[in-house]
Amino acid sequence: MPKTKRVYTFGNKQAEGNGKMRELLGGKGANLAEMNLIGIPVPPGFTITTEVCAEYYTLGKEGVVKLIKPEVEAAMKGVEQIMNMKFGDSANPLLVSVRSGARASMPGMMDTILNLGLNDEVVEGLAKKMNNPRFAWDSYRRFVQMYGDVVMDMKPQSKEDEDPFEEIIDAVKKEKGVKLDTDLTTDDLKELVKRFKAAVKKVTGKDFPTDPWEQLWGAVCAVFSSWMNERAILYRKLNNIPAEWGTAVNVQSMVFGNMGETSATGVAFTRDAATGEDIFNGEYLVNAQGEDVVAGIRTPQEITIEGSRRWAELQGISESERATKYPSLEEVMPAAFTELNEIQQHLEEYFKDMQDIEFTIQSGKLWMLQTRSGKRTGAAMVKIAMDMLAEGMIDAKTAVLRVEPAKLDELLHPVFDSAALKKAIIISKGLPASPGAATGQIVFFADDAEKWAAEGKKTILVRIETSPEDLKGMTLSEGILTARGGMTSHAAVVARGMGKCCVSGAGDLVIDYKNRTITVGTKTYKEGDWISLNGSTGVIYEGKVATKDAEVSGDFAKLMELADEFAHLKVRANADTPRDAKTAFRFGAQGIGLCRTEHMFFEGDRIKAVREMILADDEEGRRKALAKLLPMQRGDFEGLFETMNGHPVTVRLLDPPLHEFVPHFEKEMRDMAAEMKVSYEVIKNKVDALAESNPMLGHRGCRLGNTYPEITEMQTRAIIEAALNIKKKGIDVHVEIMVPLVGTHRELRAQKAVIDAVAQEVFAEHNMIIDYAVGTMIEIPRAAVTANQIAEVADFFSFGTNDLTQMTFGYSRDDVAKFLPIYLEKGILKYDPFQIIDVNGVGQLVREAVFKGRSVKPQLKCGICGEHGGEPTSVEFCHYAGLNYVSCSPYRVPIARLAAAHAALKQQ
Ligand code: PEP
Ligand code: MG
Repeated sequence: MPKTKRVYTFGNKQAEGNGKMRELLGGKGANLAEMNLIGIPVPPGFTITTEVCAEYYTLGKEGVVKLIKPEVEAAMKGVEQIMNMKFGDSANPLLVSVRSGARASMPGMMDTILNLGLNDEVVEGLAKKMNNPRFAWDSYRRFVQMYGDVVMDMKPQSKEDEDPFEEIIDAVKKEKGVKLDTDLTTDDLKELVKRFKAAVKKVTGKDFPTDPWEQLWGAVCAVFSSWMNERAILYRKLNNIPAEWGTAVNVQSMVFGNMGETSATGVAFTRDAATGEDIFNGEYLVNAQGEDVVAGIRTPQEITIEGSRRWAELQGISESERATKYPSLEEVMPAAFTELNEIQQHLEEYFKDMQDIEFTIQSGKLWMLQTRSGKRTGAAMVKIAMDMLAEGMIDAKTAVLRVEPAKLDELLHPVFDSAALKKAIIISKGLPASPGAATGQIVFFADDAEKWAAEGKKTILVRIETSPEDLKGMTLSEGILTARGGMTSHAAVVARGMGKCCVSGAGDLVIDYKNRTITVGTKTYKEGDWISLNGSTGVIYEGKVATKDAEVSGDFAKLMELADEFAHLKVRANADTPRDAKTAFRFGAQGIGLCRTEHMFFEGDRIKAVREMILADDEEGRRKALAKLLPMQRGDFEGLFETMNGHPVTVRLLDPPLHEFVPHFEKEMRDMAAEMKVSYEVIKNKVDALAESNPMLGHRGCRLGNTYPEITEMQTRAIIEAALNIKKKGIDVHVEIMVPLVGTHRELRAQKAVIDAVAQEVFAEHNMIIDYAVGTMIEIPRAAVTANQIAEVADFFSFGTNDLTQMTFGYSRDDVAKFLPIYLEKGILKYDPFQIIDVNGVGQLVREAVFKGRSVKPQLKCGICGEHGGEPTSVEFCHYAGLNYVSCSPYRVPIARLAAAHAALKQQ
């Protein structure tokens, strides 16, 4: 058997791996290899594979080190040869970085260690060799700090406290009377290293390791461990990344951006990740290392002159001040910038996608540290795909597949109303880090955002800067506001990835964590105060600013048209009112797949008539109340049919248990008694008699229509009369009447007989007829397995996968929250089957029902109207199951349209 290869080397324009090996080498490792192969300057190094990550979790540190040691030692020799330096040597030391790199990029979620290989001897050697003691000691203090954090687990004591190392830095700066880190002298840095190590010993009880190899094994294993840290687990959950994938570890020769004024480091995007505009943009810092740019501690400067000018304008900084204090890389290091600009174009053309790149300039020489497909907002995703299509870089199929259906959600949310914005009071302005409109109450800590969200409050998370620990709070807040950090800071990158509104680097804000206040000039805002963020302009407003609905236009509309060309599935909407129907229509719905008529029963005064009907003693009493409901229902249907203008509308007959409509509180019951002119006791007894132990399995669905046919009669009459009235106006109507909760074909037969009889009666009265279809929901397992019998009666099937999931699993829809989170955590369930269709169980029933139904009626129209109809992976299932359409809430219509196209394209 061939020996398993666990380490892949790269360097000097050669590589053992390549860009296609993401699964084994992770995204970063694969792209580092590929960049070498296409001649981009990349510091040499090697990748330890993702398979070793899994081995680490079974063998532990010692076991895994034994396994990889010979290959790592050999790979390190290769790096030493290319760099002409030696790892651990005190005269000519090679330092390395150790970084994670999973198959899918997980920015900032796992750990990184830079400058590894330094100790008290090596630092002196480095200082001599580089003739730069300050640089050597600055690198050393950074290494101790990072290694202490990541490998030795030094953490702040409480949420109000800073990182323990940052506290030491602040203390030394205070003692020395200096403001900036860059003002610290070599001796100050030596003092920092000493205090850092003492702090490590004090907190962890362990000495800081001096042997570079011991440091390396510690770092490699810490990166593997970080795959299972809390934030990485949460990120995977949010992005559906399987835990089995594991991370690779990349060990790479260090190049230094902190060697003085001709050195720099930065991150850049080949296009704008927030808006998608084709503008090369990014940020850099002179005399700095990578973590400085993303940490948001020093505010980085723009790479291009154009970007720098735009930034200065946003900040209200004059051109002369900008050019002297905050010049762009293009101005400061023009030669390195030109090369960087060429490389970014090369990378984008080569990978045919927007790239997120990291680079370092060491004494004027440019090195590329990473390239990956850049995270972007939904809006940017759409624009970049459509622009690249127009530029001929990608084809239509690729353009459609480039946009993640779920990401469209961001484009469908309301935006600030421009009239309201004009009147709003501006607090300050930051950078437009991630677009959107957010309104919420100020909180300062991520765990408070979580707590407040649980209480149903909307929050804006306000931080000096965010860190990966804040991830959960960020997901649960409406928007994120930071005082420090640029467009590539943690807050900005993560918010864009989540599609969350974010304003970063609002430098005017003075944030006081201890007192929980923000001060801007003379004004102070407290925790709990309402503010609004415009993530597209960076402006922060006082209070709540009104919003208006989003529209499908421009590139978004073009993408949707393309998607419809590829899709086989049609998309309808679940809509109960003309208003919902209008929204659905705006978003491209091709019909209404489910109108839940009971929702109409709660409108205005009608609930009284509904209750009267339910509480009536006999058929006569029921008919009297139903007669009051008839005109109201007819009016509703007229509105719906008119709005849908000839597109199909599926109207479902009454479904929920009657007990849901009756009054439950004494006062309401007394009011009802007065209204109906009976005693309170009569009402109370009726309400009690209607209560059921398992209402979801009780007197509901077609069982209501079969026991009280007069309800079906009234609803049918309202539907058919409405259809005729609209038809009389010259508007086409395409009506489908749907019977819920059928378990045996006889239930449907009985209901169909009632419907047909009433329809004929109405046609005779109006002397006019229309086509109508009678179909059923398939939402009871028995209906699915006897679908051939049901299809003999039904004109169409619509899968009610909410109930079908409930009854197939035997999980009550209303009580599942009690155990579902635990099942998900324990891995008993991989996902929530009420959100993502259970292909192997519920999906099997759907397939069987379609097959059996069409064996009787080959053209039987089949759709889905459960919540799954708007969820992308479930839509894909529906495509494969051969359904004709999916129906989902209006706001998910574009998502379903795109998901339907993806399903068809993936099958090609
Ligand atoms: C269903 O059961 O999937 C369905 C659409 O009906 P409801 O959610 O109204 O029970
Ligand atoms: Mg149902």
